[in-house]
Amino acid sequence: MKTCILTLFACLTVVAATAQLTPFELSKDKNYTATYPEVISYYTKLAKANPQMKLINYGMTDIGKPLTLVVLSRDKVFDPALIKKQNKRVLLINNGIHPGEPEGIDANMMFARDLLKKNTLPKNVVICIVALYNIDGSLNRGLSRINQNGPSAYGFRGNSRNLDLNRDFIKADSRNTLALEEIINTWQPEIFLDNHTSDGADYQYVMTLIETQKDKQNPILAEYTSKTLSPELYKRMKKSGFEMTPYVESEENIPDSGIVSFLETPRFATGYTSQHNIISYITETHMLKPFDKRVYATYDFMQALVDINERDAKLIGELKAKADEQVKNQKTFALNWQLDTLHYDTLSFKGFTAGYKPSEVSGLPRLYYDRSKPFTKTIKYYDNYLPEVTADKPIAYIIPQAWGKIIDLYKLNNVVMQRLAHDTSIFMQTYYISDYKTVTKPYEGHYLHSNVKIGWYNGQAKFYAGDYVVYTNQALNRFIVETLEPQGIDSYFAWNFFDSVLAEKEYYSPYVFEDVAAALLKKDPGLRKKLDDEKAKNPAMAKSAEAQLNFVYRHSPYFEKTYLRYPVGRLMRNTQLDLK
Ligand SMILES: [Zn+2]
Repeated sequence: MKTCILTLFACLTVVAATAQLTPFELSKDKNYTATYPEVISYYTKLAKANPQMKLINYGMTDIGKPLTLVVLSRDKVFDPALIKKQNKRVLLINNGIHPGEPEGIDANMMFARDLLKKNTLPKNVVICIVALYNIDGSLNRGLSRINQNGPSAYGFRGNSRNLDLNRDFIKADSRNTLALEEIINTWQPEIFLDNHTSDGADYQYVMTLIETQKDKQNPILAEYTSKTLSPELYKRMKKSGFEMTPYVESEENIPDSGIVSFLETPRFATGYTSQHNIISYITETHMLKPFDKRVYATYDFMQALVDINERDAKLIGELKAKADEQVKNQKTFALNWQLDTLHYDTLSFKGFTAGYKPSEVSGLPRLYYDRSKPFTKTIKYYDNYLPEVTADKPIAYIIPQAWGKIIDLYKLNNVVMQRLAHDTSIFMQTYYISDYKTVTKPYEGHYLHSNVKIGWYNGQAKFYAGDYVVYTNQALNRFIVETLEPQGIDSYFAWNFFDSVLAEKEYYSPYVFEDVAAALLKKDPGLRKKLDDEKAKNPAMAKSAEAQLNFVYRHSPYFEKTYLRYPVGRLMRNTQLDLK
């Protein structure tokens, strides 16, 4: 009996002492990442014991569980509007968008605990942590990253709809995305961090870093990021023992020939947040380094980011306000980018010597890295992008209310919209889609369009009471223009929102139309001439009755005007609109 009580007492003491340790820390070999229930249970206990921490649930993810946001606030203020009023910064950290890359999940549990335990929460920064974003993928636990060195088990990349959530920020197919966008637009962080693990080449670094590509980033923010914030992060990480290099993207996985800076288009988390003028980073720990080192590197990076954010809080707030103001007045917007292959920077790179040897699988040469031959070399860093397609913003876009998903997404993103008071006709610029390419296999649940070519005409267009007017005098102009201009690489058009305009709704029976077409040609000598000219230019058409009949149909008043017409209008002239 006595032994039993003693054992129980000893057990309770151990529980009290270890209650604050994370599952990662409690694991024997530090090769373990917490499961979703463990993550939530850990944070729930931590929040109960600490009034400076609060858990707030948002939305419902696709698997039917809410998305949990951990908020750490030194002053115990958890109202985002009040935090803005107090001129404090918000740092948002996202973890487990790819649950097979879970360092951030475990590092953040320790990080939150330590900030509370050591009483080192920043004064000027409220820290928001998405505990585990892709809950669905995390519950689908196993081993699915063949190239990765630990942890012992982890979640799957796809969510319960098999979507890669890090391609979903514009099309927003998953409810996870809607919940995260609600968090972003409610808390309006100035800095965003997305924690990942890399694939690709082998080299000496435990961590690589992606920052919002400087040419794509707002120039005011790019100046601060590229000259102050990023260099300081590199310096601090070197000091903490985890020297970083920019994310390694290279030809045939061999960085020696140079690396290319990653272009995160708006479909990615950091591409989307940079449309909102949020300074954004992605950490990519290296998949072949031991898991514990990857977790500690992520921890140290977050500490460095918090410390600099705290130091520069006032400045970051001012820069964000200036950048927002600049975007309100910006006239031209890049819709797509191409790498500048002529201009590059250089950087000192710590790699491993790559070579080729015969494969035991195929007998053919295979790539390998010799870790016994490390090197430090100066390599080329291609970090310049040029705008490939641009668009000048109109005074306003008018979105017919029929396109409800766009309206919902705009509301979620705090885009300011007004509504037409009456049915009306407005002089607008209207686009026609003249050409586009489409992938042959579905990509993330869509047949993505690219290389979109447009034509346009100016004239009266009909709109109806309740249609939405979006003036382009907003801090969200980039988001608005890049989603509504069909040539945008991640525009709503590219993501199939407008595919119904790409197909004809009516057609004709040739035997009936023959007589109508003949009458049309007789009545309209201009059309007859157009047909004859086309036949002279195009011998195949001259031999095809079907092609000629179709030509007359397409140039006749019967041909439907909605075919290939882009439904969102561009208001180009200052026009007094009657608004609700
Ligand atoms: Zn990833």
